[in-house]
Amino acid sequence: MKKIGFIGLGNMGLPMSKNLLAANFIVYGLDLNKKAEEALQEFGGLTGVSISEMTGVCDVIITSLPSSDAVEEIFLGEEGLIKHSQPGMILMDTSTVAPEMNLKVEKAVRNKGIEYLAAPVSGGVIGAVNRTLTFMVGGSEETYQKALPIMNVLGEKIFHVNEKIDSGTATKLINNLLIGFYTAGVSEALNLAKQSNIDLENLYEILNVSYAKSRIFERNYKSFIANDDYEPGFSLKLLRKDLGFALDLAEKHHLDLPISKNLFDMYEEAEESGLGEKDMSVVFQKLSEQSTSK
Ligand code: NAD
Repeated sequence: MKKIGFIGLGNMGLPMSKNLLAANFIVYGLDLNKKAEEALQEFGGLTGVSISEMTGVCDVIITSLPSSDAVEEIFLGEEGLIKHSQPGMILMDTSTVAPEMNLKVEKAVRNKGIEYLAAPVSGGVIGAVNRTLTFMVGGSEETYQKALPIMNVLGEKIFHVNEKIDSGTATKLINNLLIGFYTAGVSEALNLAKQSNIDLENLYEILNVSYAKSRIFERNYKSFIANDDYEPGFSLKLLRKDLGFALDLAEKHHLDLPISKNLFDMYEEAEESGLGEKDMSVVFQKLSEQSTSK
């Protein structure tokens, strides 16, 4: 039976690891947060291992980490994955990071016989729990085919974007740029409705059969705004991080994205006001509070 290592047992990583266990893989989990490791242990996962111990027993290591810095430390650090991995092993990073980080890791695995995929995911925590994630994968076709059975356990729609290692990440950043737009748009529109004394549930029913219908509208309204509860979910700080990466990518191509820059500033301000850990849809609450205090 395949042994899989999973590093980063957060909102996404923990349910993904549990799904691997449910599919009869042996899973070794590692997280800085011991509570997350305990949660995996309760489900049958093995924890308390170092990276070198993990690479000593696993054929595949999956990561789901919150930042480029964390990915750099786990992959390229002194006691990191690349130092300890054996030829033939597959390292698959599902985190959303800067494309440059994918290139840096690819350079480090080159000529070592270690296989690497940059495979960010979309679909949120619900997708991670229900195995309905979409994978956007960059890397060699051969490695993609080898990792496909594992991705099929974790997700529903698996796309090999192309062989360029950062192609999946660029696709994911474009996805999240649009999510940032839709979330801001839904928040402003619903706030306008609220201030105009239009019942939001009624509005939802109407818009859901009109052209304004969207998955983000449905998600943000039904799962968060309607309950006035903004956790857990896709944290505002993670969205702001991805918008920053998208703007960096645009700059690399000498593209100016003025509306996206405004969007980034809005999320950055919301993060600085202490909302970073809440679901991104919390911008509705912020706008709504600002309107009522005027
Ligand atoms: P999270 O913050 O909930 O989880 C990250 C986990 O990594 C935490 O448990 C943290 O303790 C652990 N961690 C951080 N540094 C570590 C290190 N050096 N060693 C070991 N563990 C470490 O984040 P998340 O929401 O699960 O997101 C993970 C990744 O998936 C991010 O890159 C995010 O952009 C991406 N993503 C998230 C969502 C979502 O809806 N949450 C959706 C798609 C993609």
